[in-house]
Amino acid sequence: MNKEMIRKTDNEKIVPTYSRYDMAADKGKGACCYDTDGKKYIDFTAGIGVNSLGFCDDAWIDAVTSQLKKLQHVSNLFYTEPQVKVAEALTKRTGLSKVFFGNSGAEANEAAIKTARKYGTTRKGENVNKIITLENSFHGRTMAAITATGQEHYHKYFTPFIGGFKYCKANDIEQLKSLADDEVCAVMMEMIQGEGGVMNLDMEFVKAAEEICAAKDILFIVDEVQTGIGRTGKLFAYEHFGVKPDIVTFAKGIGGGLPIGGAIMGEKCCDVLQPGDHGTTYGGNPVACAGACEVLSRLDDDFLTEVEKKGEYLRNRLMELPQVKSVSGMGLMLGVEIDGKEAAAAVKEALEGGLMILTAKNKVRMLPPLTITYDELDQGIEIFKKALM
Ligand SMILES: *Cc1c(COP(=O)(O)O)cnc(C)c1O
Repeated sequence: MNKEMIRKTDNEKIVPTYSRYDMAADKGKGACCYDTDGKKYIDFTAGIGVNSLGFCDDAWIDAVTSQLKKLQHVSNLFYTEPQVKVAEALTKRTGLSKVFFGNSGAEANEAAIKTARKYGTTRKGENVNKIITLENSFHGRTMAAITATGQEHYHKYFTPFIGGFKYCKANDIEQLKSLADDEVCAVMMEMIQGEGGVMNLDMEFVKAAEEICAAKDILFIVDEVQTGIGRTGKLFAYEHFGVKPDIVTFAKGIGGGLPIGGAIMGEKCCDVLQPGDHGTTYGGNPVACAGACEVLSRLDDDFLTEVEKKGEYLRNRLMELPQVKSVSGMGLMLGVEIDGKEAAAAVKEALEGGLMILTAKNKVRMLPPLTITYDELDQGIEIFKKALM
């Protein structure tokens, strides 16, 4: 099919939950993507932070295809080695205890929310089930996850929303203290609010949140669905803040392009969910886990240092541009505030010029594959420069 046929059929046959950009992706390698007309694009999106190793990384393909030839799926009623290997890597590197596997970020947060509610209600009393999240957060699209999401825009049409969530202004320690009453079982936050405009939280706020949680035996949940798996130059962004969460949720980048997500749980709560309490048919699928194993094995200290360096390089190059007012984020997760043009218009023009970028609120958001080369970064910046003019 050519692009016009794909677009026409898409418009007719697919529920329009996304307003798509004017590009039909056909294939890719590394940080280069090609559309159905063979036009090349530099990729500063990694599929919204999913393709950590870029498109079609050779070793990742080997890992995934050799698993695919052995065993593509067996139910979670049986043991499988790839799942155990991912869990082992994640617990070893975080110091947390056990992992629950799902398939997406929303499911990861759903598991964390259920864990928190059971933790609170079974240990402290039936009404200890409230969860504090932050204004301007994003936690996913299931009913619990959109309720957790602290943005009015998501809280329409789908009534009734589930109860039990309270919203705190990001970085407001006093408000967090006053909201953290005896009915709260968890506090959940992103270290950098991705969809909310790549907004870094203040270090003091994150540390205070950890302290309040520890003092009151409240679970401290960090949503690392976008910030995790090397994106910010550390395996998880909370490491930059010097805190230790009770639950870390992950998804996007871990599978290198295959659907997998989950929650890593600390000592306090790793045995809260028991047989029958939670689950999902595909969770921890062997092929997705084989991809995750490859991604995690590649993200050693040298690789992460390189992510940090590339992030600094990209940030500095962006700051040189006269239309750039500010650059937020960390590592290869950057939010670019621009002058003279709407972010959406810049994204459209960049795409025409051969660069894939994203928006986040009123900013341009860049999430290149972690394996991007300096040459590809330079090519992307040149295109972005022209798109700003
Ligand atoms: C993308 C995202 C989610 C939702 O992930 P899905 O895989 O789309 O369900 C949750 N939290 C954060 C921080 C995200 O960026």
